[in-house]
Amino acid sequence: MKENILFIGLGNMGYPMSKKLIQQFGKLQGFDLNSQIKEEFEKSGGKWIQDLSSLQADVVFSMLPGAQEVKKLYLEEQKLLSVLKKGTLIVDCSTCDSQSVCDVFKKAKKKGLLFLSAPVSGGTKGAEKGTLTFMVGGDKKDFDLAKKYLKAMGKNIFYAGGVGDGQSVKICNNMLLAIHMVGTCEAFALGQALGLKPEVLSKIMKASSGQNWSLENYNPCPDLMPFVPSSNNYEGGFSVRLMLKDLQLAQKAMKETNQNLNLGSKVFEIYKKHFEEGFSNKDFSHVFQKINKKEKSNL
Ligand code: NAD
Repeated sequence: MKENILFIGLGNMGYPMSKKLIQQFGKLQGFDLNSQIKEEFEKSGGKWIQDLSSLQADVVFSMLPGAQEVKKLYLEEQKLLSVLKKGTLIVDCSTCDSQSVCDVFKKAKKKGLLFLSAPVSGGTKGAEKGTLTFMVGGDKKDFDLAKKYLKAMGKNIFYAGGVGDGQSVKICNNMLLAIHMVGTCEAFALGQALGLKPEVLSKIMKASSGQNWSLENYNPCPDLMPFVPSSNNYEGGFSVRLMLKDLQLAQKAMKETNQNLNLGSKVFEIYKKHFEEGFSNKDFSHVFQKINKKEKSNL
């Protein structure tokens, strides 16, 4: 393959996504501010980039915590838009607010760069298996160019519309994710209080109308499912910090559109409190530990 692909942000999601690109295209350059990932990335066949100021890339992927980091990377600190050559395809997969990605998009266009905002769903498991869902916003012709790379990492590749539209879909999706995660935690808390074994409850609800993604793929009760964060002391996965960020984005969108959505606001409060109580780096399913406590909190 002739093209030089660069992946920036090799964290919980970015690292397994980068491995899929290496498998598909044979080579990949990678960069992260956290150099602890270097050794593992190189073992997986990637080429670590020390300094972004002299990079060679035709295609750039980024998977960063949020809008602040995306702006720092492309516009402010590393000023990547000024480093990349004309015609470079940039696909930012971080979850951000629509306005921020629109700002980067406009500036990228002015410099003759192609910019797509392509947030994902499917979690770390989806990233490892290459089954992510991509919700892509930007110019349709750039989306068509990006498809071959996205297909290496995902199963469902959707064109959502203009550059901020993928982010709007993502915000709605994650608000719903938080609601069914908290709902699933409450069902298990009540079930256990009624004397039911979690495995019995899980088996029956999965075949009943309470079925949902959290129950099916991400059970919050420890040791019910292998390879999910709840069975690994709630490590890895999707942090409380990042879920709170997405719920903040949903709150902002609600304000801007004059929507008063009760459950969306309630889960925002729940995750805000969980974050403030010191669980910011635990997986978001850790909220079960709070909900399941005998002494009821004021969540
Ligand atoms: P993470 O914190 O594990 O990884 C982010 C990585 O970006 C870190 O390694 C960090 O060092 C690096 N980074 C930050 N700023 C940088 C910069 N300027 N240059 C280079 N590297 C930089 O986060 P994650 O869980 O991988 O999530 C990444 C994005 O994906 C977030 O926007 C999140 O909302 C979204 N997301 C996460 C999940 C999930 O299950 N974890 C699922 C869907 C979407």
